[in-house]
Amino acid sequence: MRRTLLALSIALFSSQGAFAEDHQHASLGAHEHGVASLNLVVDGNLVSLELDSPAANLVGFEHTPGTDEDRATVARVKAALEQADTLFSFTPAAGCTLQQIELESPLFAADEHEHEHEHEHEHEHERHDDHAHGEHEQHDDHDDHHDHEHSAHADIEGRFGFNCSSPERLEALTLPLFNSFPAMQRIQVQAITTSGQHGAVLTADQPTLSLD
Ligand SMILES: [Zn+2]
Repeated sequence: MRRTLLALSIALFSSQGAFAEDHQHASLGAHEHGVASLNLVVDGNLVSLELDSPAANLVGFEHTPGTDEDRATVARVKAALEQADTLFSFTPAAGCTLQQIELESPLFAADEHEHEHEHEHEHEHERHDDHAHGEHEQHDDHDDHHDHEHSAHADIEGRFGFNCSSPERLEALTLPLFNSFPAMQRIQVQAITTSGQHGAVLTADQPTLSLD
């Protein structure tokens, strides 16, 4: 998983010719809050979407979920992304149905880990409460260290596969996603279809890319 993620990031940076250090989040395409990229490829009946977004655009934060509230937020976002056919909308005549979803993020990894150790966590939680004050201060120190020494940023990557019965009738992609995630300001979309390449920057006001 981790290796795939790294390979993908390198490919992304290379293709944009912008090798940026982790913390230069204002760099083009690297990690800019409010901005995400979306690639669409049509291959026969399969339409693949790849979304790469700073976690902040979807979750509202990028740290490892540390509280029950954080974990609930992450779970909500994950559930919303799993309903990808309500976030990405194709020309109805193309007959596209969602077939496959892969989600990757350091935030989700932490979420899965917590599930695996749900029981142990509950016990730990009680113990944490006993020493709530000391534990909390330690935690803050750690966060500060993290911000200065490493990148505290995290992305969410989603790959969504749609099977389309009439891909030749695919005329447009619309992103209702903007309605669900107000922190998402714009999405740079690149599409490769049978009619060629299409690109646009989509926003809540302009959420549709023509694929004609
Ligand atoms: Zn960030």
